[in-house]
Amino acid sequence: MMDRIRIKKPLPGPKARKLIKRDEAILSPSMTRSYPFVAKRGKGAWMEDVDGNIFLDFTAGIAVTAAGHCHPQVTKAVQKQAATLLHMSGTDFYYEPQVTLAEKLAKAAPIKGKKRVFFTNSGTESVEAAFKLARYKTKRQRVISFFGAFHGRTMGSLSLTASKAIQKEKFGPLVPGVTHVGYGYCYRCPYNLTYPECKIDCVDYIEHTLFKKTVPPEEVAAIIVEPIQGEGGYVVPPPDYHERLAALAKRHGILLICDEVQAGMGRTGKMFAIEHWNVQPDIITMAKGIASGLPLGAVIARADIMDWEPGAHANTFGGNPVACAAAIETMNLLENGMLKNVQVVGAYLFKKLQTLARKYPVIGDVRGKGLMVGIELVKDRTTKEPVPKYRDKIIEGAFMKGLLLLGCGETGIRFSPPLVITKKQVDIAVQIVEECLA
Ligand code: PLP
Repeated sequence: MMDRIRIKKPLPGPKARKLIKRDEAILSPSMTRSYPFVAKRGKGAWMEDVDGNIFLDFTAGIAVTAAGHCHPQVTKAVQKQAATLLHMSGTDFYYEPQVTLAEKLAKAAPIKGKKRVFFTNSGTESVEAAFKLARYKTKRQRVISFFGAFHGRTMGSLSLTASKAIQKEKFGPLVPGVTHVGYGYCYRCPYNLTYPECKIDCVDYIEHTLFKKTVPPEEVAAIIVEPIQGEGGYVVPPPDYHERLAALAKRHGILLICDEVQAGMGRTGKMFAIEHWNVQPDIITMAKGIASGLPLGAVIARADIMDWEPGAHANTFGGNPVACAAAIETMNLLENGMLKNVQVVGAYLFKKLQTLARKYPVIGDVRGKGLMVGIELVKDRTTKEPVPKYRDKIIEGAFMKGLLLLGCGETGIRFSPPLVITKKQVDIAVQIVEECLA
């Protein structure tokens, strides 16, 4: 039964150690494994490892298993679709599941008027497609992105990414024309200002400095922004931030690409995270949680923007029917109670972490929306000196106690459980984090 944490020490167990040895001998060493968890199966937010240990998962496989591990409704839809049609390539042929999903996504997306959808297999591919579409449509080359942003690791997306230098080291030259600016990261304002007195100067900087000194706005195809920065530290920008950014883009005929790969698909308590602001992006990129664990990505755009000619952009696997079937069920679940659960349990998690922060000054900041919540650890609250080693120790300690967590940013911990998480499971997770802090 997977209904509570059960750990036999030592971790990793014998079967896990064996598998890790085989993995290390054959797989690319470029991956970043934080601790030796070897997954065997999952149910909801519970996971069993190869040695029969039961863990509580607050990672959702990097914010992917939205409906929880192996949700019966998703699994059933996948099994049914797998027995009917595995693949026929949406590039050259037609089939129903990708049309149905596109219709559902377009209906839900916070963009007015007629929309079109392009399917991919991952976040980075969605961003590549959006980047290409923006250049194609505007006939402009430059793109503005943000420090702290993570948009993926293929050459175009990597050029937009500015999360960790190691991700770019030795891979240049990257795609030219990308300029990074400071994000609305008020806890560590890149311009050393304080909200609200700053009047969101980080957006004005683009207009008053960048556009006047180095980047002619009429050469800018797009501004790409995460509604809430994910990899960069679960950073929520201030109220009005996205409205100001959208207005700036509009003034200069620049397309606004909203990267919802991590924050989208209900994670923040709204179907699309940008709905927390009063903004309509021109292009939206999605992936991760969209199909509750199957590889799928999507780009949603205004139809007058996504009007490229046949042959301009396509792929072999995008919109795979099995992945689409999983995504349709994920959306059905969100619409029928899961989104509400994110709001209720997310608020509960946030409050519990705030209580923890009152007790432990090492927690410098608690932030997030819905079930996209992060804490930032600091040496002391005045200097805000980051303590990544301490963060890593907490994550490792939590693993030893049966809780799966992931870091984010330089010194943060992200809480991104499956969206079916319960208050009781939140209690267990926060209790473990507290034990580690203590
Ligand atoms: N965009 C955002 C906001 C992400 O968080 C990520 C992955 O973490 C990506 C893009 C890249 O997605 P993928 O790893 O599926 O290529």
